[in-house]
Amino acid sequence: MNREACKRRLEEVIDARRQVYLDLGEKIYKNPETGYREKETTKTLADALEGLGLRTEREIAYTGCRAHGNEGKKGPKVAVLGELDALLCPSHPDCRRETGAMHACGHNIQTTVMYGVADALVHSGVLDDLDGAVDFMAVPAEEVIELDYRKTLKDAGKIRYYSGKTELIAKGAFDDVDICMMVHNFPFDQPGIKMAPYTSSNGFVEKHTIFMGKQSHAGQAPWDGINALNMASLAISAMHYQRETFKDSDTVRVHQIITKGGDVVNSVPARVEMETTIRANNMAALMDANRKVNRSIRAGAVALGGKAQVIDSPGQLPIVPDRNLAELFRENALHFYKEEEMLPRMQWTASSDMGDVSSLMPALHGLTGGIAGGLHTADYRIVDVEDAYLIPIKVMAFTLVDLLADGAGQAKKVIREFKPVMTKEEYLQYLRDIEKTYILE
Ligand SMILES: [Zn+2]
Ligand SMILES: [Zn+2]
Repeated sequence: MNREACKRRLEEVIDARRQVYLDLGEKIYKNPETGYREKETTKTLADALEGLGLRTEREIAYTGCRAHGNEGKKGPKVAVLGELDALLCPSHPDCRRETGAMHACGHNIQTTVMYGVADALVHSGVLDDLDGAVDFMAVPAEEVIELDYRKTLKDAGKIRYYSGKTELIAKGAFDDVDICMMVHNFPFDQPGIKMAPYTSSNGFVEKHTIFMGKQSHAGQAPWDGINALNMASLAISAMHYQRETFKDSDTVRVHQIITKGGDVVNSVPARVEMETTIRANNMAALMDANRKVNRSIRAGAVALGGKAQVIDSPGQLPIVPDRNLAELFRENALHFYKEEEMLPRMQWTASSDMGDVSSLMPALHGLTGGIAGGLHTADYRIVDVEDAYLIPIKVMAFTLVDLLADGAGQAKKVIREFKPVMTKEEYLQYLRDIEKTYILE
């Protein structure tokens, strides 16, 4: 099979159908839905994928859909992923008024890239020439937000995990997948940079703490109370004192908000609640920081004579990028960008549940450009549709050709050389170990 000829056919289709993709991206942008609420977005994408003649499953993890390309074909299976969810950004001028939801993380771009790759592979006929299968998965709930809403879903038995890819892994959706690929847009602050194929991220643990003290009259008898707000304040100070013990290379982040600061100001607060996110770029540092945060919470509680109930939830694992995949993606991006327009390696310090996937199988989380303003901010905007949508569609489609052409030798090499961080069984055990409730006193 002539790979370059296949890539030319793909590029012709992508150029001819560019408006289809841009319209889809705009349609999703104008209908932002947050995690596990992406009903309309799922329908839009499932209808479009089904329109290509691909068998498409719907509501794969409460929301989300999955289309099967080359179903039943022998050879490796690659999944191209797109995240469905928006986030809340009520200060953004384009947000949906009623909900504050807004695609300020650009997930409308990556779902469109996912669809565009499917569309181009089908319309060019290249899909039939590949020696392997390609699935297209629109996955829910990458942003870990609206935890109260997700808890209601969990309590009702509709989901098990707050992150969509975690939910899908646990449900076995990746059991028959060998390689996963997706792109995510990024506002590069280095001038002239358009793409970063080889990227890793922080992972995180989510912690809900309830400081429990004793109520008393704040004016008449404060000595009879145990002040839960003071416990929280001391715990936060202790967390700050830990910061000099975090290695720069581990990119540890600890941040918290008080979600309940007391009941009435004239009583000593007996119950104070705090959310804490602990991040690091490797598991050892993440567990180390988690222990230090727990010591800090205990210190606050013990000093005041109260106690703290802690509820830990698995957040997301650090992204461990596959070098072979990133290199193939980079080589194909050289059709469009100069070497110096791409970062050779990038460590970012936010998180994604693509980290969980990348711990189990070879994964690509390529960062692409075409946007300005910060992610998750009121300034976020798409400034260049070529960089945002069309070049990533081409690079992803070209990379699939290289992976799966001629007996899928490249895909088999990627699979053979990959070393997982953990097995699926170890991953599920990790989730069980992390997810627990305990008392610090
Ligand atoms: Zn995102
Ligand atoms: Zn985001």
